[in-house]
Amino acid sequence: GLARTNTWRRYRLGVMGGTFDPIHHGHLVAASEVAARFDLDEVVFVPTGVPWQKAGRRVSKGEDRYLMTVIATASNPQFTVSRVDIDRAGNTYTVDTLRDIRAERGGNLDLYFITGADALRSILTWRGADELFDLAHFVGVTRPGVNLHRSDLSHLPSDKVTLLEVPALAISSTECRTRVAAGLPLWYLVPDGVVQYVAKRGLYTEANESQILRP
Ligand code: ATP
Ligand code: MG
Repeated sequence: GLARTNTWRRYRLGVMGGTFDPIHHGHLVAASEVAARFDLDEVVFVPTGVPWQKAGRRVSKGEDRYLMTVIATASNPQFTVSRVDIDRAGNTYTVDTLRDIRAERGGNLDLYFITGADALRSILTWRGADELFDLAHFVGVTRPGVNLHRSDLSHLPSDKVTLLEVPALAISSTECRTRVAAGLPLWYLVPDGVVQYVAKRGLYTEANESQILRP
């Protein structure tokens, strides 16, 4: 439409944060759906550095998670990947992610942070929660097994948070890792290139050294 061709239109950037260990079709469908519904110009995927919520768990190296995210998004001209979180030392906090993306991209930018509804529920416990709503609009995508209602979000500013149902995809990274460890196929749960990358690097197998145990 006309609005798309107006050069003065503010750029609408989706930000999809995640551990992406590995990235799967649930993530990609969610990003694609939010991009369509919110008329986004681009969605930038941001693999986390140290996921502090996942302390005590094995997490693949940032470089492996970054490369899988690049492979998975390469075919979509609207999808990009940012290194801001894996290149920053220390724990990853969403407030830093949003600040860095803003600093990197400059002005005239509206940010839409895309997150699973499960994570949205605890949003007020995140560091810098008071600043988060000045930095971005929040889109909570409902995933299978998470029952979230507007009333669960009554403590959040209603003009800054939108819930969106995405086509149900019962895929999680946990299930992908468990399947690989059990020798079950990953095909069609993640993009083909990611299946091949996981096999090539031996990710999610017992003896793999590319995973670090979070303290
Ligand atoms: P894990 O099982 O290790 O927790 P995950 O599948 O939840 O991994 P993350 O990298 O933690 O993947 O997810 C990044 C974001 O994508 C989170 O906000 C999460 O809620 C959301 N998400 C994950 N899977 C889906 C899915 N199938 N549909 C919609 N959103 C999803
Ligand atoms: Mg998760």
